[in-house]
Amino acid sequence: MRRPRSGRERPLPSLMKNNDVPSTATLPEAGPPTTREHFAQWRQAQDIRQRTRLGGFFYLVAWCLCWGFASRPGVHWAAGLMVTALFALLLLLRLGHRLPRQADVDALRRWALVHWNLLLATALSWGLASSWVLATPDFGNARLVAVVSTVAFATAMVFTFAMNRPLATVGVAFLSLPGIATLAWQGTDALPVVLTLVGHLAFLVLALRRGHAEYHAHTDMAFELLDQRERFRALSRTDGLTQLGNRLHFNQVLPEMAHQARRSGQPLSLAMFDIDWFKRINDTHGHAAGDACLIAFSGWMRTAFAGPGDVLVRLGGEEFGVLMPGTTAAEAWQRAEAFRHHVSLTPVAWRDRHIAVTTSGGVGTYGVAIDGAPEHLVQRVDRALYTAKARGRNQVTQALGDALPPQSDLPFWAS
Ligand code: GH3
Ligand code: MG
Ligand code: MG
Repeated sequence: MRRPRSGRERPLPSLMKNNDVPSTATLPEAGPPTTREHFAQWRQAQDIRQRTRLGGFFYLVAWCLCWGFASRPGVHWAAGLMVTALFALLLLLRLGHRLPRQADVDALRRWALVHWNLLLATALSWGLASSWVLATPDFGNARLVAVVSTVAFATAMVFTFAMNRPLATVGVAFLSLPGIATLAWQGTDALPVVLTLVGHLAFLVLALRRGHAEYHAHTDMAFELLDQRERFRALSRTDGLTQLGNRLHFNQVLPEMAHQARRSGQPLSLAMFDIDWFKRINDTHGHAAGDACLIAFSGWMRTAFAGPGDVLVRLGGEEFGVLMPGTTAAEAWQRAEAFRHHVSLTPVAWRDRHIAVTTSGGVGTYGVAIDGAPEHLVQRVDRALYTAKARGRNQVTQALGDALPPQSDLPFWAS
């Protein structure tokens, strides 16, 4: 089997840890695999599964034609029935062999191997059955049906299952060689047909070579397209300065996470922060220093909000947000307050300066009854943030409508 191209065997970019919701948790169905090898195996398995369906019927039908149009079908009724049963069984096995649920690379590879065994068993059965037809005078004109069907099956094998060149070659050999050998054995009368079949076989070998290369080139191209699409998607959802998610990302994940929270009954909290007097920092130290503060701020956020599934975004300018699934109002407030405290104690080192930064924050927890649409939570938290500003900045305010944390839960510096 052709090995997938080595080299860039890396996962597609995604705004995962701290930046994204796990895609499998939110998508109704997992999309195509995101590594080259996995994608190649997945596509092969899909194609085999799709293309195997029709083929099994044709073998059964072709055999029934051979047997039904034999000059004396009744003479071989027992063997004829057995061959019919064999092709019917192989057809059922092919149809019933479903793709694995856990579609990791190894499971897909194992599935494909088992299915190839079914395909090869069918091919060999046809090769032997057709050679029996060709060797038995009782089949009369049905011998032509056997030859034509063999040519058709071998051609179909090459054009349908070119993804695996060695196994497709074995399949073509199983289909054709028994019949060709039988005809060759019958002497000079069959020589023109034998030569034609050998010539066709040579054509099939060349066609398989090209079909195989084209199949994998097409797979590579499909993966490249997918890869590029994912990269553009990730890029369009990432803030260039801080590498956090941007507002577009926030707008996309918020409804998904709210939906997840409603379904699971787990809380979903949102904290929004705005750096205090940031214009003044820019004016005093320059825009580059301001940028350094934004980068430092995003780094502190990554450390402070590293829970599984936490989504961190820069909402714009010096305003940031963090979505915390599975976090109650009290926990969210504590985390936000601890973060604010850390920011107020940690100046940003920039060139030879230490720039003091503080932040104000608003925290709220999604409640179906209070919020309905998740955008309403954003409005509540935004209002809380501006209350914190109005109260003098460098503080975190709980959104109206949320249960306030019990005093005993407050950190020592906040009590
Ligand atoms: P407040 O405490 O009320 O939030 O005051 P503030 O000065 O932080 O708020 P204001 O909205 O007046 O100023 C925000 C400033 O942030 C203005 C803008 O120039 C600056 N800013 C926005 N985006 C960037 C950026 O990417 N880099 C830098 N360095 N500054 C930015
Ligand atoms: Mg500000
Ligand atoms: Mg602002």
